[in-house]
Formats: sequence, structure tokens, C-alpha cells
Amino acid sequence: MLSLTSNLTDLKGVGSTIAKRLARLNLFTIGDLLYHFPARYEDFSHFVQIANLKVGERVTIRGKVQLINTRRSWKRRLTVTEALIKDTTGSIKAVWFNQPYLAETIKPGTEVMLAGTLTAGSYGLQLEHPTIEPVAGAHLPVRQAGVHTGRLVPIYPSTGQLGQRLLRTLVNRALPLARSIPDYLPKEIMHKAKLPYLNQAIYSLHFPASTPELTAARRRVTFDELFLIHLRSVLARRSLGNYQARAIPFSEATKELVASLPWALTADQRLATWEIIKDLNKTRPMYRLLQGDVGSGKTIVAGLACFNCLKSNLQAAILAPTEILAEQHWHTLCQLLSPWSIKLALLTRGHHRLSDTAKEVSAAAIKKKLAQGEIELIIGTHALLESNLAWQSLGLVVVDEQHRFGVEHRQALMSGRRPAPHLLSMTATPIPRSLALTLFGDLDISILQHLPPGRQPITTRLVPPSERARAYELMRQEVARDNRVFIVCPLIEESDVLGVRAATAEHERLQRDVFPDLKLGLLHGKMATRAKAHVMEDFKRGATPILVSTSVVEVGVDVPEATVMAIEGAERFGVAQLHQFRGRVGRSERPSACLLMTDSAKPRGLNRLQALVKLSSGFELAEFDLKTRGPGDLLGATQSGFLRLRFAELANAELLKTVREAAALVIKTDPALKRLPQLKAKISQQTFHPE
Ligand code: ADP
Ligand code: MG
Repeated sequence: MLSLTSNLTDLKGVGSTIAKRLARLNLFTIGDLLYHFPARYEDFSHFVQIANLKVGERVTIRGKVQLINTRRSWKRRLTVTEALIKDTTGSIKAVWFNQPYLAETIKPGTEVMLAGTLTAGSYGLQLEHPTIEPVAGAHLPVRQAGVHTGRLVPIYPSTGQLGQRLLRTLVNRALPLARSIPDYLPKEIMHKAKLPYLNQAIYSLHFPASTPELTAARRRVTFDELFLIHLRSVLARRSLGNYQARAIPFSEATKELVASLPWALTADQRLATWEIIKDLNKTRPMYRLLQGDVGSGKTIVAGLACFNCLKSNLQAAILAPTEILAEQHWHTLCQLLSPWSIKLALLTRGHHRLSDTAKEVSAAAIKKKLAQGEIELIIGTHALLESNLAWQSLGLVVVDEQHRFGVEHRQALMSGRRPAPHLLSMTATPIPRSLALTLFGDLDISILQHLPPGRQPITTRLVPPSERARAYELMRQEVARDNRVFIVCPLIEESDVLGVRAATAEHERLQRDVFPDLKLGLLHGKMATRAKAHVMEDFKRGATPILVSTSVVEVGVDVPEATVMAIEGAERFGVAQLHQFRGRVGRSERPSACLLMTDSAKPRGLNRLQALVKLSSGFELAEFDLKTRGPGDLLGATQSGFLRLRFAELANAELLKTVREAAALVIKTDPALKRLPQLKAKISQQTFHPE
């Protein structure tokens, strides 16, 4: 018996080759396939009789095959299959190139539907390359409509290896199982928000009977996506709000720290810091997101919040997604806080350090000191999330680049600690304002809108192969000016999971053929912690002014001397990632360049690259990304990290409001979701949470 969790190989027509191709789309089970929604539809719902065919109209006809045969064309290797189709009003010719199997599978006398556009060429009126489908093969309840013809025909996001026809056939085969998808929405909400049942919506998304039906189905899945995120966020906030936190009063010393900075805080930084400091002084735990584009200066805001916390003799922790970033924060904060003799610690997979000794210490020593309160501020990676960490008095948790963490990570730091620590999440992930409110529930948001003054705009350019030499020349010039250059390499083979091989090979090539007179650094995620630190250090110092790297430098890295960010195989990265890479330069008053190096003159995803050339703001890029993610851009879609939402771009103000109202209703009537077990299960299942 097939079920939603059955392997796709259990579905008729899926052997191991097809299964592998499906796996590349992340489709493994029947349920996955049912949730693989079309990116768009081609409208072949218009049926006409042959006598009424008009040139240029996109239509479906239905008739009997009179004749069908294949011949070899005078052009070698080209076959032409021709058929004559007849209905009660007339007959028409259809032509296909290089599809000789059609004549073998479709015999004269077969009743078929043909979807296509009538053309008038030198051979007269004909349908060129119409989609053909025997009437008997179409098993759909909608009268007359087929799977591939006679309807709004679904076009799925796919790879070149998996044809639309096959995908549609498989989805159609699996679709009866949609009936067993449970509907976790309370009936009352469905009714109020005028939403169809989930299984009906899924059915309609694949094979809509009409445009209004499709609109309703989309409304349902968009609603669900937002509703689940919103409800989850509101519930998380509520559960946190139930706990007491320690109020942390404002310390005058924080003012002194601000005064000691080499530059003045921007107005945005001032406001954000103030909002945070006010929150800290409450007995309700802070739950705040600090949002600011790359380079807007979030670190210092976090640093000030931590400092203010330490001044009340409470501990603070900063969680970073990569070792390189943790290390960088460590250096920044050690330096910043050195006049105050604060006890800092660094805890990553490979590094355990204390600010008052130069040597490495054991992780156990750090844990002990943490428990005894002898460490005031700790910076770390996932190593901080280990459950056996004991704190003396944790007052504040900062999560940097929060989109790199799951809720479960944050909860690992927060849970079980009473009084609850305050939480500050930071992200450069720009979220269009209209969405933010809904997505984040009651989360408070501070925004750094403007970059620190004096920043030079970053010039972004596409570099096709023909201009490569010039790009290398530019790098040379920048090095001569004592600036630094990043060269990021993409992952080329799938087996090269961390891109180690690609970066190593490119490093070798550049060192040997292009910059034999300079010293190039190499950085990748497989390197030992200490080696990574050395590489970064040499790069910062200028000993190796050009750094060839994998995508490990994507987030957070701050080397103000860097003025060139060259991204090899730029078309392989998503918009969000490219924007993050670009954010590694333009961090000082020197002008910077971002070079999008491409292998081909007309790369796939050119649109995306051009958007980067045109748009410099992360917010604008996010909106662009949300709008344009479509089929054929699968790589970009899976890699684009702005928002892992599939439908939210369809949401309008009305729907956003409906979502909030629906969540409010649930919270009011059944906040523990006691009577809504399916909803409860659904909410705990979803791993993505934007705040
Ligand atoms: P992000 O928001 O991307 O985390 P960072 O906190 O790394 O940005 O800051 C980027 C750079 O800007 C750092 O080199 C930092 O020292 C510098 N910076 C931060 N605030 C200011 C400011 N108010 N004036 C000038 N430079 C600043
Ligand atoms: Mg940062």
C-alpha cells in the first residue's frame, strides 16, 4: 500500500535512475512529490474545433489520428514525424522533429488531444511540436482535460534530466494520496479566512480546473506558510514571556565605552543600542532582532549590550555560525574591552582560549570557569550549545547571523535557565517590512538602516572570460596599494562537499600562472582551526594579500583593508549569498569592487547577476529574489537564503492581516493547542523559523 511516506521508487515508473534524478530535486517520498508544486502553468485550457483554429492561438484540439509516419529529412540525423488529425469539422497537420517514437506509440485511429499553437509556414497551416496525449490515457476527473493538454498545464521546477511530461505523469499517479494529507487548520479558521481544504488545494495546485481554483489553492498554501511561522513565533514569545528575567540597569561605564570608540556611533546604532538597553532593564526577557545590511555595524551594538550586562555582574554569550567569525569577534572584543580588564573566553571546536592567558586551555577549564563565574563574556560556535554547559548567571545571549541557526539551537541556550536570559538575534537577512511584522509575531525589531559614514559604494561588475586578464590586473593594482583581495571559488563537483578541491586547485593555478610574484593564501572549512586563524591573520597583515577561499568567508568576516571580492563561477551562487560575499568589501573609506566572474559569456542566471550589478541594497535584492525565483533557476532558488519561503511573495496586506487574526484566535481560544493536535505536530515539525 502506498502512503505519503512511501519511497518514490514504490511508484510505478520510478526506477533507480529516475529516483536519482528526483533526489536531485530533494524528492524522496510520495509526500515530497506532492509538495513539489509547479512554478507556473501553460494555459492550454482552450479547446477549439479544427475548423476554427486561428494562427497564433494557444489551444487544444481533440480528434482522431488519420495518418502518422516518420521520415528522414534531407538534413542528416533529423527525423520528421507528421500526423494528420481529424475532428468533425476538418483536419490539420501536426509535425514533430526528432521524435520518431511518436509514430511507434501512437497508431492511426487513436483518439488524441493536441496542445499547441497553429503556425502558418511555407508548408501551410500546421501545429509544430504540439504536446500529444491519447484521450484514453488521461485519468483526471475534470471533464475533457488531460494531464499534458486541454488544461492549465503545470510546469515544474526541474533539472534538464527530468522532463515535464514525466514529472506530470508521476504527480498525477501519486495525487490520489493527497486525500490522506491531514488538515491541521481548525475548520473555523478555514471558514473565516475562506480557504479550501489542504488536500483540495494540493490537488488544484498541480492540476487546477480553473484560474479561480488555482488562486484559492495558492491562497491556502501561502496562508499556511505564513500562519505556521507566525503562530510559532507568537507561541515562542509567549512561552518566553512567562519567565522572569533579571533586570539589567544601564551602566555609566557603557557610555565611557562608547566614548572610547575610534568613531562615533551612527544614529541608527545609537537608537538600536538604546532600545536594547531599555529592554535589558525589564524583568521580562528581551526578545529582539537586530536587522542591518552587511557592514552596517551590528557587532558593536552587540558588544555594547554585552558590556552593559557584564557591568551588572551577569554573564553574556555570543554565538557565531563559523569558527572564523567567532575568532574575529574574539579579537574585536578583546581589543575593544582591553581597558576594562574583562574576562573573555573563546570556545570553538578547535580553540579554547581565555583573555588573560596567551596559551590554549582545555575545554574543561573553560566550562569550570564559566560555572564559577570567572568568565564574564564567552564567544563561541556550536560548541556553546552543548547541554552540559553550566553558567553562574547568564544574563544575555547574542546570536549572530541567526539565519544560520535553527530554533532548536537558540532554545538549547535558553531553555531551562531561570531566570531566563535576554536574547538578541542579529541578521543581515533583509525582510521586506510588510512581511516582517507577520513573520516575527511579537518579536521586537531594531533596524540599522544606514551604513557608517564615509563608505564608498562598491562597484559590482560582471567579468566574462574575455575580461579576466583585466580583472587580474585590477587585483594586482589593489595589492600594490596595500589592499586585500578575496577570490571565492564555487563548489564544482558534488563529491567535493566543502569545495576544498576546487579552491585548492584554483589557488595552485593562480599562484603558478597568474600571480607567481605574490603570495596567495588558501582558506577552506576542512583546515584545522589554528591553520584557519593563521591564514586570516596573514591575510589581514598583508603577508598574503590575495586570499583564495571557499564560501567559508560568506558571513561576517570583517577585513576592512579588503577592496576586491572576486567570485568565481558567480552564476552558481544565489543572490543572497552573492550579496553576503560582496559585503566583505566596502568596509572602509577605500573604494571597492565586487567582480562576478563567469565561465560563459551568457551564463545561466544572468538576470540574478545583473540584479546585483544594479542593486546595492539587500532589501531591494531580497524583493527581487522573491519575485523572480522560478523554474530553470533551481540552483538559485535552493541557495538563496534571504527567506526560505515558497509562497510568501504572493501574500498581500489582506492575507497578512488574515494570518495574524487567525493566529490571535488560536492563541485566545487554545494557546496550548490541546484541541488541535495536528496543528501542534505541524508546528513542531517545521524547522525553519526566521527570527
Ligand atoms: P555587520 O553589521 O556586517 O556585522 P560589522 O559589525 O562587522 O558589520 O561592522 C563593519 C565594519 O564597520 C567594522 O569594521 C566596524 O569596525 C565598522 N564600524 C562599525 N560601526 C561604525 C561606525 N559607527 N563608524 C565607522 N565604522 C564603523
Ligand atoms: Mg556581522
